[in-house]
Amino acid sequence: MKTIKEVSEVFQKLGAPKFRVKQFLHAVFKEGKTDYHKIQVLPVELKQQLIEALPVLSIKPVLHIVSSKKNTEKALFEINGGQKVEAVLMRYKDGRNSICISSQAGCQMGCKFCATGTMKFGRNLTAEEIFDQVFYFHIHLLKQSESISNIVYMGMGEPFMNYDNVLESVRMLNHPDYLNLAARRITLSTSGIVDGIKKLTDEPLQVNLALSLHAPTQPMRESIMPVARRWKIDELLDSINAYTAKTHRRVSFEYVMLNGINDQPETAEELAKISNGKLTHINIIPYNSTDIAGITGSEKTNIIKFKNILQKNGISVTVRVTMGQDIAAACGQLANKNKQKQDERTK
Ligand code: SF4
Repeated sequence: MKTIKEVSEVFQKLGAPKFRVKQFLHAVFKEGKTDYHKIQVLPVELKQQLIEALPVLSIKPVLHIVSSKKNTEKALFEINGGQKVEAVLMRYKDGRNSICISSQAGCQMGCKFCATGTMKFGRNLTAEEIFDQVFYFHIHLLKQSESISNIVYMGMGEPFMNYDNVLESVRMLNHPDYLNLAARRITLSTSGIVDGIKKLTDEPLQVNLALSLHAPTQPMRESIMPVARRWKIDELLDSINAYTAKTHRRVSFEYVMLNGINDQPETAEELAKISNGKLTHINIIPYNSTDIAGITGSEKTNIIKFKNILQKNGISVTVRVTMGQDIAAACGQLANKNKQKQDERTK
């Protein structure tokens, strides 16, 4: 779906009165009618013109798979140009439905443990393409009389490398005539783009920020995340302090547990040291192995030890529930698998 401004311009060009825009958006978002033929409220002639001028969905769903436990669903979309991006729906036991979406096709950041990081970078997604991943799941859930609770920008890509389109997509999610999702239910996640954190600090939107920290020291961070060479950990943590001081919003530190790399007890002590006194919450993520770079996830016992050390130091911490391992739910895994299959077919 295009932005409200673009949609209004299309209607205007076609000579349709303003109230038709509201009728159209209501039919699409509130009634879940994505087929123009089913939107009875619009005149037939206008609908014929809109089919050409205003396609409802800008991305083509090519695969939708459900995990064996039925709590995770993953969709693969083809974007203009043929590349694939993915989005994941996670259904939590408490009834929340969270959608994880992509902001780029591929990613330039090259994090060592990430399937997307190993793919060739494609391009930034448009605001419409980002929004449409959520829109797709909105329609899917509406059919089951359910709704979306949260959105996380933790799929493929680095949101702050596509800052303007990402923020535009947030405004679309937020818009009362679109999905009307409160900004505080939306989380932007960055690998550590300090310029983006600074920009977000000054935005009037109340979105949440998550930082993929993954290591508490500069050498360790650099060894797994090339972004750390550009923005050193001290500068990064300073930008987080400035963000929380201005917004009074808690930042989530994401911490993926990698066997023998960042999961030692002394590393937990270091992490506690740099987190202490900050308005943060640490989210420990068991690693969904992707068979890349020989990296494996930490043992469960090490994860528990690590968490206990943080807790003992008074740090707010949780361990994320793993979901959807049987459908390759970690970022980039499905698009990568799909690409590998295509490569095999063309060999
Ligand atoms: S973890 Fe995120 S930022 Fe890093 S390579 Fe993967 S998609 Fe990019």
